[in-house]
Amino acid sequence: MTKSFILDAGKIQEFTKEHKLQPFRIKQLYQEIFKNQNINFADMTTISKELREDLDKQFSVTTLKVDQIIEDRNTTKIWFETHDGFMIEAVILYHRQDDKYIKNNSPKLNRITLCVSSQVGCPMWCIFCVTWKLGIKRNLGRDEIISQLLFANNHIKKKFGKQEDWTLYGVRNVVFMGMGEPLLNYDNTKKSIEVMLRQEAGFSLSKRHVTISTSGIIPWINQLIKDDIPVQLAISLHAPNQELRDKLMPVAKAYPLAELMKTIDTYVKKFDNRIFYEYIMIKNITDKPELARQLVTLLKHRLAHVNLIPYNNNPAIELKESDEATMQAFKKILEEGGITVTIRDSLGRKMKWACGQLGYEKLTQQGK
Ligand code: SAH
Repeated sequence: MTKSFILDAGKIQEFTKEHKLQPFRIKQLYQEIFKNQNINFADMTTISKELREDLDKQFSVTTLKVDQIIEDRNTTKIWFETHDGFMIEAVILYHRQDDKYIKNNSPKLNRITLCVSSQVGCPMWCIFCVTWKLGIKRNLGRDEIISQLLFANNHIKKKFGKQEDWTLYGVRNVVFMGMGEPLLNYDNTKKSIEVMLRQEAGFSLSKRHVTISTSGIIPWINQLIKDDIPVQLAISLHAPNQELRDKLMPVAKAYPLAELMKTIDTYVKKFDNRIFYEYIMIKNITDKPELARQLVTLLKHRLAHVNLIPYNNNPAIELKESDEATMQAFKKILEEGGITVTIRDSLGRKMKWACGQLGYEKLTQQGK
């Protein structure tokens, strides 16, 4: 018998009836999962052994299997295998306080971000990204998106244990910047966000700490507006004009920049949320001063924050990362134009573990 996912409300209800359980038992179960960050029933010691064993027969807490974990001080990259044999990635990013403030071996984590995948592969064909080379295999289900978060929290708990206030370390921010285009998997993205935000049987994340990143699929941004989804929006812009954007991202042909900006304006009008614009720094292509000036013109009167992302070199693609001085000069033009901007820090970049960067080795292994 295949096991049901632990958030399958219908199955849980059946189980409750069958075992004549009081409702608080299920509350306890969800506390063990979301508050105590357990993914194995055996570790859920506030529940009787007998009940744990019964649950274990019918339910699983994650629907993904871990294939491989690679970590360094600032990142944990997790490769998951799906039930049908595909590989997907999630990356945990540890934002630490400056070393000089660290006392008593405390990890001094400012915050922990998890980058989740929303699809197996990607259909967007952005020229600087390797993920689409996998093709698009399928959407991830709600439970597969949630499973990445459940696993990450369990991993973080084992790694860091309790904070000074005795609560566990865990993921505070979720960004949909792993494999795939979340807005092309709208329903499951939406349903997974519901679990992230809710307090009952959920992660209680703040809506300000969940970010959907999109290459700019206009009809689905409109749907976000209609459905009143209150999370943050990041737009993978990467070019300040139509001509360059066309070259980098085929999606721009279907959803032109001028129209995209109009849609974003409607979004901002409704939510009054600052938009994060992702802008990749590719040597001699996106990093020219005149492009910085165009970007200022495009965003000057908009509620915007620009993240400059140093391009990550990859042997499968013949592009180069901008040099440091060029990036700084680009940043300065934006700042002088009144745009707030950060250069995405290099957490994990050295090892090509950054979010959105499928490991090339895995890519070639995945012959399915
Ligand atoms: N499809 C969505 C979600 C994926 S996000 C989107 O486009 O927003 C993936 C992020 O990683 C994007 O901002 C993308 O620009 C970035 N990325 C992809 N390839 C990269 C590379 N080679 N170097 C640096 N960032 C890259």
